[in-house]
Amino acid sequence: MLTIKRRPMLIAFSSPSGAGKTSITRRLLGLDEQVRLSVSWTTRPMRPGEIDGQDYTFVDQKTFDDKVAEGGFLEHAGVFGKSYGTPRDYVDAALAEGHDMLFDIDWKGTQQLRASMPDDIVTIFILPPSKASLEERLRRRAQDDEATVARRMAEANDEISHWGEYEYIIVNDFLERALQEAREIIAAERLRRHRQPGLVPFVQGMMAEF
Ligand code: 5GP
Repeated sequence: MLTIKRRPMLIAFSSPSGAGKTSITRRLLGLDEQVRLSVSWTTRPMRPGEIDGQDYTFVDQKTFDDKVAEGGFLEHAGVFGKSYGTPRDYVDAALAEGHDMLFDIDWKGTQQLRASMPDDIVTIFILPPSKASLEERLRRRAQDDEATVARRMAEANDEISHWGEYEYIIVNDFLERALQEAREIIAAERLRRHRQPGLVPFVQGMMAEF
């Protein structure tokens, strides 16, 4: 099969908590062997059912701050009063191997990634179909107490206010359709000319045969 060499890309997914971003990124991982998921570091406590090293790497504030000081994060931000960051080493290694990277990060992290890698980033914002559905999903998840749910609803308002900074917007009223839309975005973005450096020798070779 003909393969044209292409540049890997960074695909940033943002949304308010409870809009289904985590479900979409996890499903993409299982469906598309070219993508890898960036596992963030966080100082927030682990929720029931979460796995250290898989959902997040859970660390204390000192360990997090030391990593910031040594430049170990590609981006980092405070969210809900806790620290979250994308470790640089895994992302660099995966990109070097030619994998596209998925990021489940907030708008502040997306801004930082865009500033450092403007040509390689694709930004997708997931909107809930309504405020009520967002609240219901947060509550159904039942991993956070009432006060946390209320605070996260307030934070959701702030996160949603940044939707206009994203290239693609998916309204997640039905997971399978949202997933399909995410796959279509990724498929099209892979075909962008500047992401296919292998086209130059390919076309030159073809032209030479005319
Ligand atoms: P949660 O605590 O619900 O897992 O995540 C809270 C928020 O932090 C989500 O919007 C999530 O996307 C964001 N987040 C998770 N990891 C990172 C990260 O490494 N960097 C940034 N900037 N945001 C993150």
